[in-house]
Amino acid sequence: MMSTYDLLITGGTVLDPANNRHEIADVAIAEGRIARVEPEIDHALAKSVSDVKGQWVMPGMIDGHVHVGGRRTTWDPAVGHRMLAMAGVTTGIDFGSTPEQLFDGMKRLGAGLNMGGLFVMRPGETIPNDDPPPAEVEGIVSDALRRGAIGIKIIGGYDPFTPEVTANIIAECNKQKAYVGFHVGTKTAGSRLDGLREVPELVGKGRLHVAHINAYTRGSILDPLEEVQEAISILTSMKGQLNSEVHQAVPNGTSGLCDSDGNVLANVCQNCLKLRDYPTTADGIRQAIRDGYATVITEKNESVQRVGGDEALAIFDELHTDCSLSFPVNLPQSAMLLTTTKDSDGDFVVDAVASDGGSHPRNINIESTMALVRFGALSPVEMAIKLSWNPSRMFGLINKGHFSEGADADVTIIDPDQGKAIATYVSGDPVLMNGEIHSKGGTLLVTEKGITPAKNSGLDYEVLDLDKSKLYKEF
Ligand SMILES: [Zn+2]
Repeated sequence: MMSTYDLLITGGTVLDPANNRHEIADVAIAEGRIARVEPEIDHALAKSVSDVKGQWVMPGMIDGHVHVGGRRTTWDPAVGHRMLAMAGVTTGIDFGSTPEQLFDGMKRLGAGLNMGGLFVMRPGETIPNDDPPPAEVEGIVSDALRRGAIGIKIIGGYDPFTPEVTANIIAECNKQKAYVGFHVGTKTAGSRLDGLREVPELVGKGRLHVAHINAYTRGSILDPLEEVQEAISILTSMKGQLNSEVHQAVPNGTSGLCDSDGNVLANVCQNCLKLRDYPTTADGIRQAIRDGYATVITEKNESVQRVGGDEALAIFDELHTDCSLSFPVNLPQSAMLLTTTKDSDGDFVVDAVASDGGSHPRNINIESTMALVRFGALSPVEMAIKLSWNPSRMFGLINKGHFSEGADADVTIIDPDQGKAIATYVSGDPVLMNGEIHSKGGTLLVTEKGITPAKNSGLDYEVLDLDKSKLYKEF
């Protein structure tokens, strides 16, 4: 007998917000796509059957802010593919590398995930000059798309531009319909609430993805809850113009790099030190490590981890301060409010939960969001909205984030008792299974302009139409 379906995932509780489904049902997959979702489908119709009774079956988790490329001194960011796959991710968007770094890492250490990337603007490294003038920005944006990025990342917390240049980069991305992600901060405002306050003026009538809103509500300027309220009112006042996400991990990730006088360079790292009254110097960092406040992020046992104490001090000094640090500065109450608050239309103010993880050891989207479900702060279907449906809309991944017939068969299966992902499928193929990763490489997400490098990479690729993204829809 001919099998109608390649795979039948049976008996799980299906969470599919787009189709208003929260019920026990079978999911049939054929040729990498969702074929049917029904309360009961004949097992004899499928080549293989996976019984997931008691588990939750969600459209594949889309992590809209990850790091699997770029330059790091103490680890290979590409190990992040595996870390994301272990955490139940099926699609990720890299927020800080070049297309070449992204493609290379995926070829070497890919774990079968769908992955697009933003081109990070680092003067002296990925772009020639600080504060590039408009003509140069035009070339940087079009070049990034042609090389296979889906857009641009501005890292105002590390390499801030003037407000004028920042506004121009956003406008140029809008003009070329390049996705644009912003870690807030300019030469006049920090990577804090004051940076977020600049956003309305920088964006004007344009569009922008504002990264990790929780990172600007650490209590650097006002009481943390007042900062959350102000962040919510800024986002609400710009509804329809902004994409945003929040991550839920307490530890952050930043750079310890100091100049030759021993002064900390990164604004993010300075802010972390100031929060506990440490001097913003290499000695301040050393003291923070000794006190257990700062840890060093490094590769260990095929994964990326945080280490403290003498081990951390040794790495910091061996690398002459050029290493990644982590501080426990993200406040759970800020993350929770930013994750759960809705506007007067009933829409989430912050679109999605994203990890800002990958190779940063904080891939806890499912664990932390499941904790909010248990707490009653989110329903199971709302979790699927934050982890899959909303991010699919943000990036124009129209065949993902839902289980409609013909959708990509990307699936994340969650054990509600453990509160974590136990299995994933990408295009119907198993990726995470029994605690191991069963896939390599991956599928690149590029815009139409990036087809040539995607082809040349030898990896599979898919073309994104950002006109269909929430960012540029009706723009
Ligand atoms: Zn990031």
